[in-house]
Amino acid sequence: MNDPDHPSDLIIYRLDLLKNSDGDVSKHPTGKQDIPATVEQVENYLNLLEKEWDGEFFWSNPKDTLDSLPPGYKLMYRPRGTKNNRAGDLYLWGHPSGLWFSSASRFSFHLAWLINRGKKGSCQCKPCDGVRG
Ligand SMILES: [Zn+2]
Repeated sequence: MNDPDHPSDLIIYRLDLLKNSDGDVSKHPTGKQDIPATVEQVENYLNLLEKEWDGEFFWSNPKDTLDSLPPGYKLMYRPRGTKNNRAGDLYLWGHPSGLWFSSASRFSFHLAWLINRGKKGSCQCKPCDGVRG
């Protein structure tokens, strides 16, 4: 098996199987301005998360990959209007505070806390601190 896309030591992290996720579907946005992110947008987001972790938290193998978001979390896209074809923004929803994460980088702190510390101690992310993240 010499498939370069799937090396034999590859680890795929199924975050959708994470048992202690604190994601809360009741905190997802209900307004029509937010639309579910596309599969491609979610993939790009997961790729960004992987880079955030690279060597910093628990990323032991750079080939390891993320396959999903933790239960209760959902990536939503908010367009900025049709003028000048401006790109919209991606926000991750589901934090129990009802606050959102504005980037993969910011969510990486909360995810590391969920996974590494099993929700022990205090999380360093902004929504856990009551601040928009
Ligand atoms: Zn947090």
